[in-house]
Amino acid sequence: MRLCRFDDNRLGIVDGSIVRDVTAALDVVPTQGYPYPMHDVLVEHLDRVLNRARAVMPNARTLALDAIRLLSPVANPGKIVAAPVNYEKHRIEATTDPGLHGNNPGSAFNIHSAGLFLKSTSSLVGPGEGVVIRRPDRRTDHEVELVIVIGRKADRVSRADAMAHVAGYAIGLDISIRGSEDRSFRKSPDTYSVLGPWLVTADEIPDPGSLDLQIAVNGEVRQQSNTRLMILGVAELIEMASSMYTLHPGDLIFTGTPEGVSPIHPGDSIVATIAHIGTMAVAVRADRSIDAPAMSTSSAGA
Ligand code: MN
Repeated sequence: MRLCRFDDNRLGIVDGSIVRDVTAALDVVPTQGYPYPMHDVLVEHLDRVLNRARAVMPNARTLALDAIRLLSPVANPGKIVAAPVNYEKHRIEATTDPGLHGNNPGSAFNIHSAGLFLKSTSSLVGPGEGVVIRRPDRRTDHEVELVIVIGRKADRVSRADAMAHVAGYAIGLDISIRGSEDRSFRKSPDTYSVLGPWLVTADEIPDPGSLDLQIAVNGEVRQQSNTRLMILGVAELIEMASSMYTLHPGDLIFTGTPEGVSPIHPGDSIVATIAHIGTMAVAVRADRSIDAPAMSTSSAGA
């Protein structure tokens, strides 16, 4: 199934070009009190939610997919884990182009020595919210990535057992400022982790290690590859991540980007596609607070 969150935190099941509003299915998610869990409770109870969604679907309101505003399908991931340099051709471009490596130590450009990194959870948005360029003075790139949504607690699981811990998949944009700082700093501004267009449950992806993925900016294809070219596959990434920390329902793993990363600017229109998942359009905007001086004249006297 394809589960989306849209508009004012409504829950939808995507069916072709329509969405069935199954917000009523959220009733099966247990009510939480303080202190709230540090993981996503909808994903924790995903099977119950989907069963209830199937039950309410016949009477559900239907909407056109192009008439709704898509939010991140996972609302509250406890962690956003990400793989650096997980495609060989991106590793080569990243180590040879000073505009990309920003004089970071060369040893950090091998996933086996770099390990994984974390992006701030506050950076997460859905495709309908768009990317807001935080630092127009800095090179800012798109990175299209397959994202794993963890379905159940995973603590030191082997690659052989890893796939049983996956709830599903989505498309991710790991928006990245280039430069010398730590990855977690450069890749964590608000809106710099885009997740969408929906969560596709794992049963609908025959082989996550064989998915075409691509991204176009203003209609021009910039990255085009296949997840079979990942250095560490889905199972290996779960094994690696869970060897260091426990993964919880709703935790996200961005699996790395192929070659072809390039700068984005306000006004750009991004379209990202992964086979068996779908396509999402994401607008790139200027930070309105940077335009504040021009706007303040119209509100003078306030
Ligand atoms: Mn990345």
